[in-house]
Amino acid sequence: MLGQKMTCNRPGSQASWLYRFFFPRRFGREEKQPPPVPREELQAIFAQLMEWDAETWGHYYLSKDPLKFRVSQSEAREIIQSSLACAKDVHSYVMSIYGIRPAEALCQALQIQLVREEGTQGNHAYLATFQEKPPKVRLFTRTADSAVWLVREAGLGEILGVELSDLAEGGDKLKREIHELMIAHELFHYFETCTPDIYTRRKLVTLPSLGSRERRSTLGAAGEIAATAFSQLYTGSRLSPGLVEMLVLCMNDLDYVRRICNNHSACAKA
Ligand SMILES: [Zn+2]
Repeated sequence: MLGQKMTCNRPGSQASWLYRFFFPRRFGREEKQPPPVPREELQAIFAQLMEWDAETWGHYYLSKDPLKFRVSQSEAREIIQSSLACAKDVHSYVMSIYGIRPAEALCQALQIQLVREEGTQGNHAYLATFQEKPPKVRLFTRTADSAVWLVREAGLGEILGVELSDLAEGGDKLKREIHELMIAHELFHYFETCTPDIYTRRKLVTLPSLGSRERRSTLGAAGEIAATAFSQLYTGSRLSPGLVEMLVLCMNDLDYVRRICNNHSACAKA
């Protein structure tokens, strides 16, 4: 799943650029205008995020996992490296069987239903979700499209390595690239479901024991790190999927992104 716990649409809070996307008009009246986009600050933030390597993004995904406290520093490294290796293995497997084709066409080949929806779920801004039975990928197009809006609005194209032609005509080309990334991410979760011994399902962390019973659990972050890496390998996108997530987060909770950027950029340089 991409976007879980990402954002909360609170009109009147800092959340307002994303709000413009989901509720441009409500009850027949214009919503309050969102504050102006702080272009320079966003450019500085994304210039910093562009320095992040796969390991730094891995630490970011681990930091969001509720079980992060069950993972030691050295184990975190091992989990990130193994998840990245797992993404490569799945990618090689998929290439050998299905070859190069758009993620949408891979959904068809695998008989996975692909549903494009505009909106979001509840109070969260989701980019995409995967449902196991029956297999279904839901792509929330307006969340992804809002990321493109911010790239244009904040002048982030050059920093992100996005070509001007990708931003032309409302950014349609970049939107398609992001949609593909999101679908490929969810397809990794599909491959997880049909590969019982895959690393991301095999890796368990120990939970506090209940009496004499030892309890263990899978670690969602491992799947997220691998799905994210897989989506970029599969689509060949220049954009790290983490950057797309940050674009959406910026639109709703810029303070959160500032904190994330400060906390993790130090280890990106270390
Ligand atoms: Zn996911």
